[in-house]
Amino acid sequence: MKIIMVCKECTKPADVDKEKSNENWTVYKNTCSKCGGSIIPKVE
Ligand SMILES: [Zn+2]
Repeated sequence: MKIIMVCKECTKPADVDKEKSNENWTVYKNTCSKCGGSIIPKVE
């Protein structure tokens, strides 16, 4: 089981926020780059 971050509206995977991420921690953007929808965690 793994958790991925996806857009609530279009289910596009969230984009990584490269400015806030580092080698130990990945930060995802809060909104979808495609439709502007909210990013939510999804269990796969
Ligand atoms: Zn979207």
